[in-house]
Amino acid sequence: MRKPLVAGNWKMFKLRAEAISLVKGIQDGLKGIDTGKVEVLVCPPYPWLEAVGSALRGSPILLGAQNAHEAKEGAFTGEVAVPMLKDAGCSYVIIGHSERRQHFGERGDRLHRKVRAVLEYGLKVIYCIGETLEEREAGRTEAVLERQIDEVLATDVDAARLVVAYEPVWAIGTGRTATTDQAQQAHVFIRGKLGGIFGLQVAQGLRIQYGGSVKPANAAGLLGQKDIDGALVGGACLAAGDFLAIIAAAVATAGGA
Ligand code: PEP
Repeated sequence: MRKPLVAGNWKMFKLRAEAISLVKGIQDGLKGIDTGKVEVLVCPPYPWLEAVGSALRGSPILLGAQNAHEAKEGAFTGEVAVPMLKDAGCSYVIIGHSERRQHFGERGDRLHRKVRAVLEYGLKVIYCIGETLEEREAGRTEAVLERQIDEVLATDVDAARLVVAYEPVWAIGTGRTATTDQAQQAHVFIRGKLGGIFGLQVAQGLRIQYGGSVKPANAAGLLGQKDIDGALVGGACLAAGDFLAIIAAAVATAGGA
């Protein structure tokens, strides 16, 4: 059975005191939730990793980063290496988020190297894929997902430390969500593709999160789908109450795999 992963991508939001207050709010609210049935991850901005990590000590909430450079170290001004993130207490790194693809030109080769660096230096990776509205309307959703999988994932990737996030670009930060059918259909397609790479049994155990305007109001419907194994949450993870409601929906629907 796949344990859902609910991850909060804080993007470039929150000052230090706000970050600590948010994570404490999540921790407090989690006391009433069965955390054995769900994995919870927060991905704050780099400067707050240490402080949020300290605030989280002793709690089941995991710490992650939103991006990483592919080199172990080096003269790359402004960048952060995976071993540094590991040292700061991270267990996951998000790679290939559509905002990295769109605003920072990250794709194909670069993401291939980044995914391998995250795994080589001992962390887990959430690899994000998803089509734009134009691609969906042109009937190219599956072709785009297939390309994004094929250019980065292969048998040399340790599937035990891989999570894939399906995030239709048109649903990210827009308030527009994929219908439960659209999301489930995409997840089935992705799982089939992963089966072609890693084998069907491994693909059955791989978690595929949905991301794109997940809110308390739509979380249960999405997370109740058979092939949706948690959520990558942007806007709604910035308020403890909303994030907790999504976690509770994941717990309530867990076991559908
Ligand atoms: C995201 O940043 O990955 C995301 C899904 O954002 P939002 O939930 O705001 O759409």
